[in-house]
Amino acid sequence: MTLSGLLREGRERLKSAGIPEWDLDAWYLLEYAADCTRNEYFLYPEKEVSPSGEQLYRALIRKRSAHIPLQYLTGRQEFMGFSFVVNEKVLIPRQDTEILVEEALRTLDAGMRVLDVCTGSGCILLSLMRLCAGLEGTGTDLSEEALQVAGENARRLGARVSFVQGDLFEPVSGKYDCIVSNPPYIASREVDALMEEVRGHEPRMALDGGEDGLYFYRKIAVQSPKYLKDRGRIFLEIGFDQGEAVAGLLAPAFDEVRIVQDLAGLDRVVCGILRS
Ligand code: GLN
Repeated sequence: MTLSGLLREGRERLKSAGIPEWDLDAWYLLEYAADCTRNEYFLYPEKEVSPSGEQLYRALIRKRSAHIPLQYLTGRQEFMGFSFVVNEKVLIPRQDTEILVEEALRTLDAGMRVLDVCTGSGCILLSLMRLCAGLEGTGTDLSEEALQVAGENARRLGARVSFVQGDLFEPVSGKYDCIVSNPPYIASREVDALMEEVRGHEPRMALDGGEDGLYFYRKIAVQSPKYLKDRGRIFLEIGFDQGEAVAGLLAPAFDEVRIVQDLAGLDRVVCGILRS
């Protein structure tokens, strides 16, 4: 089978399976399975693909037709310009989350200690470590399997961090200059209404924020002051309609509570400074 023949087949299958980005996904998977760039494709579209490449491509197209997210098939997602390893044990890093990283970066400096609660793939903490030299980083997650992915990402990115397993702050000791978190924040009954890629394949524990979606923010708002230095900062990712509620949860212990919008103009991050 030639590259162009395989691509045609993949596009048709994904399109008829109702995959919205069928064209792009058929391309990405071809580049991955046949190990060829788009430029190479256009130079030699009639190049023969090896039998193993062909078999791999068809298997991936079948999985993508079953709504398995592309990133779990290629095992990669870009975030803040870095390539992160992902699998079904971690949430796929979202572009929206880059806002949180950028906000936190403005306040960080060499020598500061950063704590990432619910670290998942480690994308937030590891990006901060790579973009601000000299930080000391700790990440926590309830999932041991997620922490394996985070550890792999730390190795690949050459970041020296410590990942510890446990519920929120449970495995943490000492005080930090900065706490960042993108906790699960979807209301339980809304999880099942999400697209199949998310509800059927991303870890439910990384999505489900309890009955009203605010379960983890309540815990974080109450527990975080104990782990922050005087005037330490907190940055929390939120859902577009949770700004006021989460700002209200931080208000009793934090000053300068602000809601930051994402590129689409939606509320995305709440931050504050621990009151002395
Ligand atoms: N911190 C990780 C991320 O932002 C995981 C978040 C989560 O699992 N809720 O992608």
